[in-house]
Amino acid sequence: MSLDLVLFGGTGDLAWRKLMPALFQAFRHGTLPQGCRIIGVARDDLSDTAYRELIASRFEGVELAKRPSAEEFARFAALLHFLRMDLSRPEDYARLAARLAERHAGTVVMYVATAPALFTTVCEQLAAAGLNAPHVRVVLEKPLGHDLASNRAINETVRMAFQEKQVFRIDHYLGKPSVQNLFALRFGNALFEPLWRRENIANIQITIAEDLGVEKRGAFYDQTGALRDMVQNHALQLLCAIGMEPPINSHADAIRDEKLKVLRSLKAWTPETLTQHVVRGQYAAGGSNGHAVPAYRDEPGVDPASRTETFVALRTEIANWRWAGVPFYLRTGKRLASRDARIVVNFRPAPHAIFRTPAGAANQLVINLQPKDGLELHLLAQGQDNRRSNAQTLSPVHLDLDFDRRFGAERVGAYERLLLDVIDGRLNLFVRSDEQEEAWRWVEPIQEHWANDTQGPRPYTAGSWGPSAASAMIARDNYCWHEEC
Ligand code: NAP
Repeated sequence: MSLDLVLFGGTGDLAWRKLMPALFQAFRHGTLPQGCRIIGVARDDLSDTAYRELIASRFEGVELAKRPSAEEFARFAALLHFLRMDLSRPEDYARLAARLAERHAGTVVMYVATAPALFTTVCEQLAAAGLNAPHVRVVLEKPLGHDLASNRAINETVRMAFQEKQVFRIDHYLGKPSVQNLFALRFGNALFEPLWRRENIANIQITIAEDLGVEKRGAFYDQTGALRDMVQNHALQLLCAIGMEPPINSHADAIRDEKLKVLRSLKAWTPETLTQHVVRGQYAAGGSNGHAVPAYRDEPGVDPASRTETFVALRTEIANWRWAGVPFYLRTGKRLASRDARIVVNFRPAPHAIFRTPAGAANQLVINLQPKDGLELHLLAQGQDNRRSNAQTLSPVHLDLDFDRRFGAERVGAYERLLLDVIDGRLNLFVRSDEQEEAWRWVEPIQEHWANDTQGPRPYTAGSWGPSAASAMIARDNYCWHEEC
């Protein structure tokens, strides 16, 4: 079966930084179908040869292990083609139809890696040109809207053009090997499931911290902020993976039904919780990796009076029988102390103490997502220096499973994995429209609260762990963030 992968925005940053490297790795691993065509689309007037040269230059600076040899790139380049189109012009879609009709119809993937403002036009025009038959799949990048209404409007247009099973909404966090391992940990092992509930778990912390600032994307970020960029999608998807009930099987809808139930069970916001359980921050000048770095408001493309948040910490609960009363803390931000994404599951202490333990000591499961990928299980054990048998003091120890070391060579990157799933028509790692709408519904009261709040984001020093209000928020429950405990 032939494959045509049409990359709308084929000369853009996403194609350049993520998609082309992922497609090349898939090619190298032999997982792209024989004879497939990758057709880059943009308004530039490029020949196939010029496009291949442009993409070749992409690989010049990459690390040696991921760089193709000249012979290898020549074979990959033979798959690359270019089509000049202005996606806002309906008449240009006939040329795409003609290019695709050059050969027998196999699977066609339309990857929409252009500005979100073009999403609905592209879907409408693909349908108008008859390019929405069942063998066509459409991939949509985030952000799909900036609030519930705009997300619904996009979904409605997409629904008029394509069936839900043809639509692949990317949340690249779901493609990360570590996140797939989270599903494997919970639903492939019997060990944790009996413990995975309110009786045994005191709290759960999800942190997605970046040490970088907004880099070259200041103008985009200033219109978006951490809540829309990270919480509404990635952080909530991680929360779903941690909190969902076991699905009845591994089919996409079985998994997505369970994730949707978690989103619907999130405790509704009240004026009090919006004030006390949500903290927004914005980085001030500080240091990162030994270098002085500017404040967010001084970054290129950012409004000098910007009130956009670069940090969010919040506390929520999943209101159901399994989780009632267990706080889930979510935290994400830019220019934090380190690049660190992890989920920490804090178990309750042993119910009756016959040993002496360090203050606050309890079991902890740490799921490392990035840069490390693996699991740590923190336990208490009899230490070496209990020379007197009546000392009976326990010390913390941990089991450390390093998935990178164990599975290193076999692992595929998030975009490679997701692209292969689109090609194979597997929807498990993609977000359904109702999940996405429910996530927007839940963040909307926060957006409204901030719009009417004169205080604005709290400043924090670049290179720190965010505003002190985030520590105060968790301290009110008598807990602390993992790096503070
Ligand atoms: P970008 O660098 O601005 O690239 C946009 C691409 O679309 C270019 O190839 C551009 O080429 C093309 N384009 C723009 N208007 C067009 C038109 N009317 N007709 C045809 N082609 C047009 O944007 P990006 O950063 O790659 O982002 C693309 C999408 O991915 C956005 O939705 C973004 O939010 C999302 N995303 C990006 C990243 C990232 O890391 N970059 C991460 C996650 C999600 P011409 O101007 O030559 O036409």
